[in-house]
Amino acid sequence: GLRLRDERTLSAQMLKAAHIEWNWYEEDTDLVSNIHLITENILAMCLKEAVTNVVKHSNATSCEASIQVNQGQLLLIVKDNGTFKGTENNLEKGNGLAGMRERLEFVDGSFEINSENGTELRIQVPYDIK
Ligand code: ATP
Ligand code: MG
Repeated sequence: GLRLRDERTLSAQMLKAAHIEWNWYEEDTDLVSNIHLITENILAMCLKEAVTNVVKHSNATSCEASIQVNQGQLLLIVKDNGTFKGTENNLEKGNGLAGMRERLEFVDGSFEINSENGTELRIQVPYDIK
């Protein structure tokens, strides 16, 4: 399974190659090490898919991601300053976000997309610490 640390490194490399500026913010360093492995694997997969989407679709010049605890939930946010290109058609067809939703359901997680100003993907899972 994927670890968040590794996925964070891969994300940085992918965005750098695409000339998209990258910022990562972590509320505190113990946060990630306390996540259950299954939840961490799923969050890592979500981060990979989100960053891949930024590179493939957004035309953004910058992307920021953060992980924090909010009301007993882990919140992973991936935000870019590009243009959201989702339509009813490609949102349904695309495997990426649909697969993300399915995997998140395994751990009682969910996500929402805000697309007023670029694309902001807000992924939430219960914070069940080990
Ligand atoms: P796949 O993930 O299977 O390779 P995909 O990336 O097209 O295909 P999804 O990841 O489900 O599919 O995304 C659905 C659609 O939402 C994309 O085709 C794209 O139009 C839009 N989209 C998703 N993320 C972004 C983003 N960061 N910026 C702009 N558009 C996006
Ligand atoms: Mg995708």
